[in-house]
Amino acid sequence: MRLTRYFLPVLKENPAEAQIVSHRYMLRAGMIKQQAAGIYSWLPLGFRVLRRIEEIVHQEQMRAGHIPILMPTIQPADLWQESGRYNAYGPEMLRIRDRHDRDMLFGPTNEEMITDIFRAHVESYKSLPMTLYHIQWKFRDEVRPRFGVMRGREFLMKDGYNFDVDKEAALHAYNRHMVSYLRTYERMGLTAIPMRADSGPIGGDDTHEFLVLASTGESEVFFDSAVTELKLGNRAVDYDNREEVAAVCREFTTLYARTDETHDAALFDAIPEARRKVARGIEVGQIFYFGTKYSDPMGAVVVNEKGERVPVHMGSHGIGVSRLLGAIIEASHDDKGIIWPEGVTPFPVGIVNLKQGDSAADAACEGLYAALAEQGLEALYDDREERAGAKFATMDLIGLPWRITVGPRGLEKGVVELTSRRTGESEEMSPAAAVDRVARVYRAHA
Ligand code: ATP
Ligand code: MG
Repeated sequence: MRLTRYFLPVLKENPAEAQIVSHRYMLRAGMIKQQAAGIYSWLPLGFRVLRRIEEIVHQEQMRAGHIPILMPTIQPADLWQESGRYNAYGPEMLRIRDRHDRDMLFGPTNEEMITDIFRAHVESYKSLPMTLYHIQWKFRDEVRPRFGVMRGREFLMKDGYNFDVDKEAALHAYNRHMVSYLRTYERMGLTAIPMRADSGPIGGDDTHEFLVLASTGESEVFFDSAVTELKLGNRAVDYDNREEVAAVCREFTTLYARTDETHDAALFDAIPEARRKVARGIEVGQIFYFGTKYSDPMGAVVVNEKGERVPVHMGSHGIGVSRLLGAIIEASHDDKGIIWPEGVTPFPVGIVNLKQGDSAADAACEGLYAALAEQGLEALYDDREERAGAKFATMDLIGLPWRITVGPRGLEKGVVELTSRRTGESEEMSPAAAVDRVARVYRAHA
């Protein structure tokens, strides 16, 4: 993408309404525009990151054997009357009436609708296990929308629902989600710690929240610092193997890690003092097992192996897709701007032409652009007639992990400069070597 042909409405001033760094940088980097409290348009740069995050979520859900679908944003109230949640849900639910005076709502979550789909089509345990998920906009009329996309009213969520013949199988689905979430967040460059949590209005027995540590997080968290060292890495996990999946979950949930809702001071005090941490965290996901809470009232029944009709055991599992942009920026930035992890960056690399219009510099930039494209890497090429300082400031603000700087003086020696946004270190090398280096970095992330 050539910057002169792109739409990147960067702001020079700090927007007054932004209280936290991620919100500030998302506005300044021209990623989002607020349209009403907690409701945003996604501008090109923000939209690219959102799509990257969605893609990683899809890949990891499908890897775990979960099946993508798409349910509507608008739901009929009847389904929620069946489960009893229509009256219970409260003012966070946006209630709508259509022209025929039918009660509708903008979905805050989809337990009822997915249960309706299931009961219409599945009759036998032989169709199970089954997990369906979608990535769809939700609306919750939050009392205090704030912090940009972190606490919006309209926000993008991945929500998945497992259907199993008994509790044991449903707990395996719960564990499968935990492992797939760990991998999802790691691919985004995040450490998200699973913490025992409280079930709230979804209801249920077992639940973990995934928290990214950040001083601006809304939850208070208590944990053993050793938990932050755990990494899933590239290990192969067989998602069908109950014991193997459970073992990974034990590894990640044995050390103490809880939100204030479930905090237990006695257990916490038993941790060696140097490892006892109280901090703040951003909730980027949550998994629940809630048994037959919805299948009972809504009649989602299957015939089991013994020929008995039993309500299915379910759980629901959410990832805050749009919130993740804010969480990633909170976890990865400096005073110049965002520092995107390679896994989610809007563009893998930026090209800065120090002397636009100089025929050697222009030709070298075009050559780099084409060579990167050949490696499957779409560079953002700053081809504006701007001062070098302004170009660097833009690149630093939007946070691409790698920058290739091209100028007439370097070209006389046959070199360009490759700079890491994270470390700030620069190295001179031939254009071909720079392309090769960047390509190798991204191959390691593929
Ligand atoms: P919170 O406690 O932050 O209000 P929640 O527990 O009500 O969130 P869930 O029902 O667990 O939310 O939704 C799944 C995920 O969706 C959350 O873990 C969070 O990452 C994201 N999410 C929830 N509410 C919002 C919101 N208002 N704006 C952006 N993301 C949200
Ligand atoms: Mg939650």
